Formats: sequence, structure tokens, C-alpha cells
Amino acid sequence: MTKKLFWEDPYLTTIETAVESVFDNSITLRETIFYAFSGGQESDTGTIGGYPVLEARHSGLDIQYLSPEGHELKPGDSVCVKIDWDRRYRLMRLHFAAELILELVYREPGQVKKIGAHIAPDKARIDFHWPQNISSLFPKLTSQAQALVDQDMVIISAYADESSQRRYWEVPGFARVSCGGTHLKRTGEVGNIMLKRKNIGKGKERIEVYAAAK
Ligand SMILES: [Zn+2]
Repeated sequence: MTKKLFWEDPYLTTIETAVESVFDNSITLRETIFYAFSGGQESDTGTIGGYPVLEARHSGLDIQYLSPEGHELKPGDSVCVKIDWDRRYRLMRLHFAAELILELVYREPGQVKKIGAHIAPDKARIDFHWPQNISSLFPKLTSQAQALVDQDMVIISAYADESSQRRYWEVPGFARVSCGGTHLKRTGEVGNIMLKRKNIGKGKERIEVYAAAK
């Protein structure tokens, strides 16, 4: 199984490793820093052995990378794996901003139900079943989330269960939440949080989360 270094050290941008298997244009690696779409967080972009990765996808507990037609990668080859760090770091900051907002929404009274979430490099979104205009919560949510960011609290990210690769993040004193994303070391890295509302249908509300670097 591919060793997932993006969890052990989410700040790695380049590694030297070896190709584990090759099947047509689909390859697996001995170790990887290249995240594949999961938990709403988009895949990384980057290169393996100089070839662009066209797609990264999960296959059981492994990750398969799609290389371009005509690539010459073979099992055992030493390869350099590089990711677009600017993109990944924006994904990590927006992912954590969204985690803070989600956790704070769950603490609101009433029946809160999340119906979707997506983290892209320019914004994150979380969708809810919610009967009213959710923007009435924004002043409170923004100030609570920003206070957690401004306290620059430590974020722990670890295995809940290593054999099934279930992960969690924890901000001691605030929350512990199941999540397999790649996470920041400290809340302060999130930056300045801004929220926007979108109505996406009757009884459905979307919160768009933005995080401007300080
Ligand atoms: Zn998450």
C-alpha cells in the first residue's frame, strides 16, 4: 500500500520515491505526497517523474495516478514527485476555515444537517438543510471562527484507526473531528475568514468560505 506522506507531513512539496506498479497509464507509488480527492478536498496537481498527473484517484487504500499516453515509467523506477504547493496550501487553509465554520454551525440550536461540501483552491462551500436565510448567523460565525484563528491554536492531525486509515483533526479545547484531509499545523495559518451566502433551493442554504492571507 502507498505510504501517505501527505498525512505525516502535509508541508512536503517534493519527494524522491519509486514507482510501485504500472498498469497501462495508471501507476502507483511506494510513497506519495500527492493527495487524491477525498472528504471534499480537491486533488493536488503536479508531476511524477516529470510527467503531469492527469488524475489522482483512490483504489481501496491505494492511490492511482493517471500518466499521459506514451509515458515510460516502469515499476522500480526512481521518480521525483512534485506538487503545486501554492494550490495545496490554499486548499489546506480553506479546508480548515470550512471545518471551523461547520463545527460552529453544528453548535447552533435546531436540526442542522450538512448535505454537501467542497474545497477548491479559491473557495470552500458547505451546504445545509436550513429553513431560513443562513446569513443571519454570519456575524457570529465569522467572529467566533476568526477568534479561533487569531489565537493561533495548535491543530493535531492523526490516525483514529491506522488499519482502516481513518484520520481526525483536533484543536484541543475546541473540537475533535473525523477527517482525512491534509491539515495546517496552526489555526493562524487560515488568515482572514469571509463568508457569503447562496440559496441553492427551497430549504437549502450554501455557505461559501473565503480565507484571505494575512
Ligand atoms: Zn475535513
